[in-house]
Amino acid sequence: MVLASTERYDPSNVPRITGRAVILGGSIAGLAAARVVSDVFDEVTVLEQDPLPDTPAMRDGAPQTSHPHVLLEAGRTTLEDYFPGFSEDVIRSGGLMIDAATEMKYYENGGFFADGPNQLPMLCASRALFEHVVRERVRGLPNVALSDGCRFINYTFTPGDGVTGVRYRDENGTERTLSATLVVDATGRTSRTPDWLEKNGFEAPDVDEVRVDVTYSTIRLDRPPDERTVLFVPPSPPRTRGAAAIPIEDEQAEFIIQGIHGDDAPVERDAFLEVANSFPVPEVGRLPTEREWASEGIHHYPFPSSIRRHYDGLAEFPDGLVVTGDAIASFNPVYGQGMSVGALDALLLHHTLAETERNGLAREFFSSVADLIDEAWQLAVGADFEFPQTTGPKPRGTDLFNRYVNRLIRSAHTDGELTDAFYRVFRLERSVTTLLRPGVVRRVLRP
Ligand SMILES: Cc1cc2nc3c(=O)[nH]c(=O)nc-3n(C[C@H](O)[C@H](O)[C@H](O)COP(=O)(O)OP(=O)(O)OC[C@H]3O[C@@H](n4cnc5c(N)ncnc54)[C@H](O)[C@@H]3O)c2cc1C
Repeated sequence: MVLASTERYDPSNVPRITGRAVILGGSIAGLAAARVVSDVFDEVTVLEQDPLPDTPAMRDGAPQTSHPHVLLEAGRTTLEDYFPGFSEDVIRSGGLMIDAATEMKYYENGGFFADGPNQLPMLCASRALFEHVVRERVRGLPNVALSDGCRFINYTFTPGDGVTGVRYRDENGTERTLSATLVVDATGRTSRTPDWLEKNGFEAPDVDEVRVDVTYSTIRLDRPPDERTVLFVPPSPPRTRGAAAIPIEDEQAEFIIQGIHGDDAPVERDAFLEVANSFPVPEVGRLPTEREWASEGIHHYPFPSSIRRHYDGLAEFPDGLVVTGDAIASFNPVYGQGMSVGALDALLLHHTLAETERNGLAREFFSSVADLIDEAWQLAVGADFEFPQTTGPKPRGTDLFNRYVNRLIRSAHTDGELTDAFYRVFRLERSVTTLLRPGVVRRVLRP
């Protein structure tokens, strides 16, 4: 499932259900889920362990907020559907709408993609700003309460009825119970639902884990106001380092160096500049060397592995509970998919709520989410397996597909139509299968 193959959000299309929904986690997946369940339930409470700021700010509970976040077009369009004017809000706060077809400089397989023939909007801002705009729109929904400083502890469960609510510790440390008709676990990669299932007589989902050992080192640079280029040089074998520069608000750009398979991204200024200047693309070295650094230190983040939990494969799952976002699948961040998959998960929850009663909801939801994750997973994990050091379950056909995509990318160095075809898949707008359409294959195989 990708944007082109699913119905768009339509709030007039869902039933009303009496009662409360509780969302665990107030990050992107949780906020998107809050938006769609607020159409259905009388009352929605989002429980978030962090204090939630009313300005764009990095948060301890989601430490990746200090690193660059690309918002793919499928995610932007979906958030725009949930919150009309979302992109305008981001731009008003200093974000930029660039044309990825001409303003994104993407280097892979020894060259840059040629400019594409069609405009491809790409919204650029810091992760903190994206999250802030979404959070403020959710805060404005009349039946949604954002309860921050509240740490989820456990589900309440009644055999025959399923999950009936949650236990949590409020901002004063007092333990409380909140009843709910539906609970949505959006607590991210460290979700404790698998453990809870096992302790309560259910099976935990099978897990696919693909080890990549990625590290991120991020700085902020001053940016001339008319500089709008996104530079993207992902790691590509045998080069175990990647880099990217993304224009954001406040006339700044975020600049990262990534290392994969233990090639640790540097955390000290001289080493950072040395590594940046070792890239085959001179712009990577020039940016941090010639521009003023707007940040003091270097933020560092280790990401050991992509993880996919197969909730779709479980024979039994308690009613009244669903899991979403990184808590189901957490992807190698180099490909910028997580926020968009979180937004699309919520779209699938919206469709499932339109068609299914509480009992059986999870099964239907997990089954449709599996199709979405298949697409994103194939792109991200497929690319990871270009490195012989990558370990874990390799999707069938990966090597053949990678050989074809590599040839496509080399052809796209001079063929903008192929850039367009590839970017639309990368942006989760179209399915990877569209790269096998005869018109594309002909261009790829042209001598
Ligand atoms: C270094 C890095 C770079 C990334 N770059 C990109 C990118 O370019 N583009 C992109 O789309 N995605 C990117 N991602 C992924 C993206 O950050 C996530 O996919 C996205 O935030 C959606 O995740 P989520 O909401 O499911 O979980 P998270 O963002 O992890 O949020 C989980 C939330 O649950 C809260 N929580 C956890 N436990 C509890 C509890 N017990 N009680 C209450 N609250 C709790 C946490 O405080 C947090 O707010 C990147 C990730 C990393 C690590």
